[in-house]
Amino acid sequence: MRLTVLGSAASYPDAGRACAGHLVQTSSTAVLLDCGSGVLSNLGYVMAPTHLDAVLVSHGHVDHFADVFALQAALRYAPTGPVPPIPLWLPSGLRLRMEALLGERGARELAEAFEMRTLEVNVPVVAGDVTVVPHPADHVDPAFSFVVEAGDARVCYTSDTAYGPAVETAARGAQVLLAEATLPVEYAGRAPHMTPAEAGALASVSGAHTLVLTHLWPTIDRDEAGRQARGAFGGRVIVADELTALDID
Ligand SMILES: [Zn+2]
Ligand SMILES: [Zn+2]
Repeated sequence: MRLTVLGSAASYPDAGRACAGHLVQTSSTAVLLDCGSGVLSNLGYVMAPTHLDAVLVSHGHVDHFADVFALQAALRYAPTGPVPPIPLWLPSGLRLRMEALLGERGARELAEAFEMRTLEVNVPVVAGDVTVVPHPADHVDPAFSFVVEAGDARVCYTSDTAYGPAVETAARGAQVLLAEATLPVEYAGRAPHMTPAEAGALASVSGAHTLVLTHLWPTIDRDEAGRQARGAFGGRVIVADELTALDID
């Protein structure tokens, strides 16, 4: 399984960055986990958007789905003609919010690009040889962490979450933990997110060999974030950049 970070910024993309977007690929399948601002642009460096097999949105914050609107245009106006609708898995309620924004015609166009489905806790999403299990995340309601499996490879993408038992359960047994590390230490506990040190602590209890820090606040010191995570985790720590890629088997 290859994991590529398409967007590593939390909430808004500063220069050269994109909001949440993480691509999982095998030799036959491509699944996009979250699709925030700028993700479609970075996806274009890796593959044609028309070859995505599924898109999953972890929760209804805009930094996780804004580029779904751009992606629908890329699919409907593909150079080879409109692409058959791609499965788009959403938390309950988000489809209605997106349709309200788009209006009647836009909602029809969205349905031409995507076959929209609703994520449920612990109900696996299967796309080709990739399986994604949504776990509840402690963030907004509903929000999901995703456990992704292909062959023997297992990755947990925390999405946005506070540290706690929910994300510990999701992360347990993953080889690679792709964890949000949003909060500068002085903001610890002030929003339902993790600090880099908490992401490190989560990696320690999960048994993962590699921690990838993502969803970093645009003004955070990324080197310092890496140091704080390494203080809590003895394995490999990667501070994600746009297009950071990792092969997992
Ligand atoms: Zn977010
Ligand atoms: Zn969020």
